Amino acid sequence: MAEESDFCYNAQMLRVEIDIPHPVETLFLLLATGGVCLWMTWDIPQDRQSQASVTPAHAASVMDSEAGGGPDRQARILALRSAEDDARRIRSEQAVLARREEILRYGLKILEDASAHSGDNVSIRVAKEKLLSLLADERAAEEQFRETLQEMWEAEGLTATVAVGSPGVVRVLWPVEPDDGLSATFLDPSYEQRFGIPHKAIDIPVPQGSAIRSAADGVVDTIVDNGLGYSYIIVKHEGFVTLYGHASSFFVAEGEVVRQGDVLAASGGMPGTPGAGTLTTGPHLHFEVIMNGERRDPLTVLPARPELRQAQQ
Ligand SMILES: [Zn+2]
Repeated sequence: MAEESDFCYNAQMLRVEIDIPHPVETLFLLLATGGVCLWMTWDIPQDRQSQASVTPAHAASVMDSEAGGGPDRQARILALRSAEDDARRIRSEQAVLARREEILRYGLKILEDASAHSGDNVSIRVAKEKLLSLLADERAAEEQFRETLQEMWEAEGLTATVAVGSPGVVRVLWPVEPDDGLSATFLDPSYEQRFGIPHKAIDIPVPQGSAIRSAADGVVDTIVDNGLGYSYIIVKHEGFVTLYGHASSFFVAEGEVVRQGDVLAASGGMPGTPGAGTLTTGPHLHFEVIMNGERRDPLTVLPARPELRQAQQ
């Protein structure tokens, strides 16, 4: 740009003179370059939702720091991260996003059924409006689904990194009564067909707000309240870990010692209500049992319920 520079010196000041042969064109070029830089910087926050620019594990850590999780929690989530996890998560995200309209309509049907049974109360009406607005706004819907998935991956990362000893004899009680059978079994094919991801838990349908009880003696390891997103509580026991998903409110604190049967939280799961997230089978408790970092079928350790088996057939 500068073809010639003259340096003049006198006692008061140092002056640099630059001779620009095409000042108007040069100014235009500088403005255009500045504009491009500004646009790129401006676009970064919007791009955070794009899978091309951010990995889910990274997004989970971003969300965690935004949610106020300490460095310890972030380190635990990142400990799970591997290339396979990232690839698996990207595949899951694509599968869920491909089904988002179907999932939203399924959520609306659950709300319609609920209002047919208990009347169209305020929370159901608000939840319906929320799902309808997501059906109308593709970008907002994508964002919501990605957020829920990130919250679920964060939960997975946290349970996998809770350090426990050898399981020994596992004695657990039902955290809620399975009076209406199960709405989703462990690795339920119909769940995967609907939501696009494997279900490594059991869903026990109970009315919204039911008491969730600790399945065994233990210590409350983590409570994550994601507001209208997916909220859950993780309890560490002798040799294993339990997770209670879609909690709508919590009655214990992290670090608290709990006995088997103590009430931990209130259940949720109604689409569009606190703790539910976008991937839910309706009002229920999502219950996970984790041993050595692996999620196991809770039915293999829970007391047998012959009537439940009949209901499943
Ligand atoms: Zn579930």
